[in-house]
Amino acid sequence: MSERSNLLYKKQTVYEKAGKEIVEKAYEYAKGYVAYLDASKTEREAVQVSQRMAEAAGYRPYHFGDPMKAGDKFYYNNRSKNIFLFRVGSEDINNGIRITAAHIDSPRLDLKQVPLYEDNGMCYLKTHYYGGIRKYQWLALPLSLHGVVVKQDGEVVDVVIGENESDPVLYITDLLPHLAAAENQKTVGTAFVGEKLNILVGSRPLEGEEKDAIKLGVLQYLNDTYGLIEEDFLSAELCLVPAARARDVGFDRSMICGYGHDDRVCAYPSLTAIIDADESVHTTMCLLVDKEETGSDGVTGMQSSLITDIITEIAKAMGGNEALVRANSKCLSSDVAAVYDPNFADVYEHRNSALISCGVGMCKFTGSRGKGGTSDANAELVAWVRRCLNEAGVVWQTCELGKVDAGGGGTIAKYMANHNIDTVDLGVGVLSMHAPYEVVSKVDLYEAYRAFVAFYHF
Ligand code: MN
Ligand code: MN
Repeated sequence: MSERSNLLYKKQTVYEKAGKEIVEKAYEYAKGYVAYLDASKTEREAVQVSQRMAEAAGYRPYHFGDPMKAGDKFYYNNRSKNIFLFRVGSEDINNGIRITAAHIDSPRLDLKQVPLYEDNGMCYLKTHYYGGIRKYQWLALPLSLHGVVVKQDGEVVDVVIGENESDPVLYITDLLPHLAAAENQKTVGTAFVGEKLNILVGSRPLEGEEKDAIKLGVLQYLNDTYGLIEEDFLSAELCLVPAARARDVGFDRSMICGYGHDDRVCAYPSLTAIIDADESVHTTMCLLVDKEETGSDGVTGMQSSLITDIITEIAKAMGGNEALVRANSKCLSSDVAAVYDPNFADVYEHRNSALISCGVGMCKFTGSRGKGGTSDANAELVAWVRRCLNEAGVVWQTCELGKVDAGGGGTIAKYMANHNIDTVDLGVGVLSMHAPYEVVSKVDLYEAYRAFVAFYHF
């Protein structure tokens, strides 16, 4: 390469830069990811699957106050909805912790607490959408019901309906085009309203009943199958997600379409990377958290004090200084980026967008308008990560969500940074983000894994 060509920065694809061996590994790695995705349609399911993977890798449950030593591997399952893995390194704990943090909740439709009603020969469930959805995308497609019902005595009943081929699915009706003349005049934002996202769940009356016969039929089914009565909905967390499974996309099978890539496409590589980076001298940590899509509030969101509580406990157990541990820690907030979509070119700024197949994307800042609501990582940290990734041969790019003033968004990065932990976003680009089925590139997924492994070691 001549000196002059060195002057220029050029984005390249994984196909151009990393070579065939990496590409083949990426396609193989994607198979494990697809299985994880299909088994983890809610945060609770993602926690269960992740915990099983952690246990298989020698991680064991952590309780506050447990002693620990170098080489110990723990997980902390927080209320079945988020899970923190950490492995104690051999170096001084005051050197800090290498943390990756992804979220395992995704946009969906939650059931209301009094959801069931009958109307004109049909039975429905009322919903309240969770996270940022484009409402029209959820109409007229097969949905499955996932979640838990917690009975008054504390018994937890797991519910999954619509995932097996023989299961029924649930459905939201849409307006026929023949009668859509008035609706067609409305804007997308006004035509589709939350209170109309009602789930069709039955139409057969229970024999011998006159009043509420269809509703009683549905309740009879739920009682026979799960032992539930209508009042049990009051203390339930049930949600509707797309019923279909993840599939390869494209004649070349280079992409994957599935529900909940945001943010399992970062959770899975974070999790497999910490498991595989077993030889690191650093103390490593992988956070898989809930509630990102609604602002990270609550006991299972990233704004909970759990993260600092656990760091405090690790510092104490390893004879370190908690403040110093946080000051010297580094975090990759692993969340998705928006891949440049030529069909919607006007909302992207091509130079600074994540391009498909160009590897894992680093987002120095998120937020909206004049960088409102972002932690904006320091150039020093960006340079450090840049060196880490380049030395490991990881294919990566920088990215911004879209055009300035086109919109915006946030991640958990700022909540980590607020704890005096240097944090930058690094994640996989997604097409159709927040749609029932999103699309990612297999090589971008694998570069995220390679990036996290490199980070845990660096
Ligand atoms: Mn996300
Ligand atoms: Mn999201």
